[in-house]
Amino acid sequence: NVRLADAQPSATYRMIDRVAARRAAGAKIISLSAGEPDFDTPSHIREAAIYAIRAGHTRYTQVAGLRSLREAVADKFQRENALEIGWQDTIVCCGGKQVIYNALAATLNEGDEVVVPAPYWVSYPEIVRLCGAKAIVVRCGSDSGFKLTPGALAESIGPRTRWLILNSPSNPTGAVYSREELAALAQVLLDHPHVLVLSDDIYEHLIFDGAPFHTIAQVEPRLMPRVLTTNGVSKAYAMTGWRIGFGTGPRWLLNAMEKLQGQQTSGASSISQHAALAALTGPQQFLDEARSVFEQRRDLMVDLLNQARGLRCAKPAGAFYAFASCADLIGLRTPAGVQLKDDEDVATALLDEAGVAVVPGSAFGLAPFIRIAYALDDDALVAACRAIRQFCESLI
Ligand code: PLP
Repeated sequence: NVRLADAQPSATYRMIDRVAARRAAGAKIISLSAGEPDFDTPSHIREAAIYAIRAGHTRYTQVAGLRSLREAVADKFQRENALEIGWQDTIVCCGGKQVIYNALAATLNEGDEVVVPAPYWVSYPEIVRLCGAKAIVVRCGSDSGFKLTPGALAESIGPRTRWLILNSPSNPTGAVYSREELAALAQVLLDHPHVLVLSDDIYEHLIFDGAPFHTIAQVEPRLMPRVLTTNGVSKAYAMTGWRIGFGTGPRWLLNAMEKLQGQQTSGASSISQHAALAALTGPQQFLDEARSVFEQRRDLMVDLLNQARGLRCAKPAGAFYAFASCADLIGLRTPAGVQLKDDEDVATALLDEAGVAVVPGSAFGLAPFIRIAYALDDDALVAACRAIRQFCESLI
């Protein structure tokens, strides 16, 4: 397949493979590259899955998901996001990633364009390309807090624009859009009724300093008929391996996605759906606990990273990533004699010479940066930062 041949394998998975290879060769590596919480799935959720197996909930479910789970998803969108929807306005897929993939595959034609603010989650432009469309990457630098401005959005929209992708809190920067910022973007979108909006809210619950979470369909209800709001249990409930994501959007779109899913996976695992149901309807205090752990780690990491010579890192407002500029390291030479030409070299040298795995910003469409995931315990984070700092100091 020519489109697949042109696609890039996920940069984060590539780094995970490199870490595994180094570890197999006996190296001690601290990996700050994985995009998943380090906690176990809460026990009541795991128990619900075991119960589902014992109770024989082991058959195909409806393609769009179990009715009970779709009701819980609708309830979640009503309760947490004030979206006035019913269970028929929802779909359950194999991870948030498949919600996004289904939506784009169900709507994009050759020559269509998708506006993707950079830095972006690595999969957005690749999925767009796999669907035969063109990603219009809009650079959003640190001067705008790595966020899309209304002016840049207006400039990026053309007659072939099919979608805008928004992601708040963001992977890789942790940037969070305020209500006012979303309202300003919505104002631009109201002038362009042919543009659909994909709001990827997967890090919704990881937002710090007591800030509220906003999503564009809630901020501007007039956009509701063309917004797909996607979310899932992976990051919120430490359930990355269960592969459950969900979304809400206009019925025509959900129907198209369901049709596609019916010829593809036939829907998500019945057992995982029962686990997700327990996650959404059971006790929610895990969300606060996880948020507070990540917030403390964020403070620790930003403090330590800014002590490293040549790294500069603003305080991210959400998710579990720090996105640090390494511009001041470019051009320097490592003790092993490697000249650092770009952030890819910085990430490779950190792995080879400091035993720390990070992902270069170029993989997310903005260089020279490194993305540091702080989904490890404090001891590991402190050890990683010490190694990074020594590495930076050793450069000449
Ligand atoms: N969206 C963003 C921004 C992500 O970072 C991820 C995972 O890394 C996903 C979506 C997909 O998550 P999942 O497919 O596990 O629900």
